[in-house]
Amino acid sequence: MTQGVNATDNSRPLVSEIYLGTRWLGTGSGGVHQHINPATGRPQADVPLAGRAEIDEAVAVAQTAFRKWRQWRPEDRRRLLTRIAARIREHEDELAVMQAMENGLPVSAAKAVLVPHGANWFENAAGWADKLEGTVVPTAPGETMDLTLMEPIGVVAVILTWNAPIGGWGMCVAPPLAAGCCVILKPSELAPFTSTFIARLCEEEGMPPGVITVLPGGPEAGAALVEHPGVRKISFTGGGPTGRRIAAACGAQLKPVLLELGGKSANIVFPDADLAKAVETAASVVFSAGQACTLPTRAIVHESIYDEFTAMLAGALAQVQVGDPLDPTTAMGPVISAAASDRILGMVNHATRDTGAELLAGGNRKGDELAAGYFIEPTLLGNVAPDSEVAQDEVFGPVTAAIRFSDEDEAVAVANGTPYGLAGYLHTRDLARALRVASALESGTVAVNGAGAPAGPGAPFGGVKESGYGREGGRLGVAEFLQHKTVSIALS
Ligand code: NAD
Repeated sequence: MTQGVNATDNSRPLVSEIYLGTRWLGTGSGGVHQHINPATGRPQADVPLAGRAEIDEAVAVAQTAFRKWRQWRPEDRRRLLTRIAARIREHEDELAVMQAMENGLPVSAAKAVLVPHGANWFENAAGWADKLEGTVVPTAPGETMDLTLMEPIGVVAVILTWNAPIGGWGMCVAPPLAAGCCVILKPSELAPFTSTFIARLCEEEGMPPGVITVLPGGPEAGAALVEHPGVRKISFTGGGPTGRRIAAACGAQLKPVLLELGGKSANIVFPDADLAKAVETAASVVFSAGQACTLPTRAIVHESIYDEFTAMLAGALAQVQVGDPLDPTTAMGPVISAAASDRILGMVNHATRDTGAELLAGGNRKGDELAAGYFIEPTLLGNVAPDSEVAQDEVFGPVTAAIRFSDEDEAVAVANGTPYGLAGYLHTRDLARALRVASALESGTVAVNGAGAPAGPGAPFGGVKESGYGREGGRLGVAEFLQHKTVSIALS
């Protein structure tokens, strides 16, 4: 009989609450979700779900708060938001543990990547709060003076998936706040605890009631927020099928929406690449057990180095320490659920059984002391056909598909040959080729020779094609939540 991993920190109970700006609720009219720890497969907390009553109250509270929040001096908004970013950074340890128990991300990855990411993006958005200027447009000099004003769009609903909620606070929650909007955040019921915690930090720092409200809930709560006439814009991060439904509902209401959806990012490795670096990029597929939207899940490798590259990558993946996300030496934790584990391994089996792919590493669920959790071995598939399922569809698990190419045009065609366009990676020492290929890739971000995606918080981030539309990051990310008004003044 296996003991299973510990994966539980009893000194830090997991708390999820509904935050309505003036009050915190431990129960909601949407029912209860029993949260499973993905590392143990055991229930660990009850999550109250927001229903219609809490959604209506949150919208009303946010609409009231908006009247004052939009009138705050921008520099005061900047100071408050900057302090919240500092509090996120200060609470790195608690947040990392909570994240590990919430969605299985190892504490090491949360501390090295996710918490700094959330805090840095939050801080960057804060810095824009007092740098948003309108213009004077000379349309009819002497007759009129025409001003453009940048005004906050109103109450924004931010709907997040479960894979990186701390990052979502920086990328999705902070920009509308910096623009002067009020935010109703709906975290996924699979990952609500970190959002409750950060909302408490906001309250402690003096965020006025109703500027941020938090409604843990399932799909019904998300759909109700999208439909609510008091919500003026939707910012959605999640899967393509949900994104389509939300876009359709927003279209019917003429409501603007920002969509951050899935990816199937290519990592093109040319024969002159620094192979060690290219392998390191490819091995980053184990981050968050492959459950991050920008990961390089397709290694598109020149035929002259394919065997060497795949052997090196298989060796690197075999070395990855998979285990208890609370263990500081763990590099990769579980995937989010039993259903996700079945789906991922089903795709791997289909690839090897029916499409001629070779299994070069991994391919199984972990057994022994990890059997009760949803742990999958880091997996490499070779000789993958570019039009097969595992090369076309998001696996959202620790799986890389290796594909051979013989010339640059073919590499670009294969890279662009999926419906997605979130990130692209390429490795070459030839500067002209790097620039040529970067410009040919249909992708919101291109990372060259080991750079990461997203780039820093000041750079625009988002997708093309079925990876979504709209941008997060820097000035453009804040501008998503501003509307331009022209005021024309007669001079006589
Ligand atoms: P999902 O789309 O099922 O759910 C995401 C959120 O939407 C949840 O909060 C859910 O409750 C809510 N929701 C579900 N149905 C809804 C509806 N009809 N109306 C409104 N809200 C609804 O999430 P998933 O597919 O498990 O998430 C993983 C996906 O997210 C992957 O495709 C991944 O690539 C993508 N992702 C994208 C980014 C990015 O920035 N581009 C970042 C992280 C994850």
